[in-house]
Amino acid sequence: MQPLQVGVFTNSMRIDDPLAALAKAKELGLGVVQIGPLADEWYQGDAYQRIAACLQECGVVPSAICAAYPGESYADQDAVRGTVGLLPEAFLAERMALTKLVADLGANLGVPILTTHIGVMPEDPADPGHHRLVDAVQEIADYLAPKGMRFAMETGQETGPAMKEFLAAVGRDNVGVNFDPANMILYGTGDPIEALEVLRDHVLHVHCKDGEWPTVAGQLGTEVPLGAGAVGVERYLGKLKEIGYAGPLVIEREAGEDRLGDITRAKELLERLR
Ligand code: MG
Repeated sequence: MQPLQVGVFTNSMRIDDPLAALAKAKELGLGVVQIGPLADEWYQGDAYQRIAACLQECGVVPSAICAAYPGESYADQDAVRGTVGLLPEAFLAERMALTKLVADLGANLGVPILTTHIGVMPEDPADPGHHRLVDAVQEIADYLAPKGMRFAMETGQETGPAMKEFLAAVGRDNVGVNFDPANMILYGTGDPIEALEVLRDHVLHVHCKDGEWPTVAGQLGTEVPLGAGAVGVERYLGKLKEIGYAGPLVIEREAGEDRLGDITRAKELLERLR
């Protein structure tokens, strides 16, 4: 993989079949993918062999694999707090089990990084939810370590300093962040470039996504095509280079009706500015 090679989060293409998604990535000229959440069957038995063969055939490199969980809602900030990631206690056991299945698939495919939204971390370290999240992340990190894999937590549902404190509480060498600048804007958690400075030693992987700030309390901001929002793509890439980030630039697009067109235009923008 070349430094700052442009890739795509397979989920963003809205193609459920991972084999078709990989073929589409190749067709779009994207040689790197973050593998998105898949149907259960792909985590079972030797199903990975079909994905491995397809990666080989397409000449596409998997930079990361993402775990997401049934029952998550991103409708508004309360929904995110109540349903997303490893914070909701009622779902913790089943979600940890799924996370390990995704890790196993990643290991079988030689993927170096597992990513997920862990959920909204409670700011108070005495909150039981905070302990639960630290324990869960430590357990995932320790599951990944013998596989030679690292765990990258998606940023943006908390401030940069809060994430840095959380990383210190976790205290594992193979844990860092998947930095998503748009999330910080969508959740109203602060300037993403300032957060990138705070987290500069912990960036394992990044998303290239854009958004507008929320205008109604409790609601999320609006995701927009890369380059059309408040991130400032040139500034973002400049900061990534300044901190020495040399991993892939993975395009994520979670809204809009012309995903493939938006991804193609984002690729052109990133290749021009990187
Ligand atoms: Mg993201």
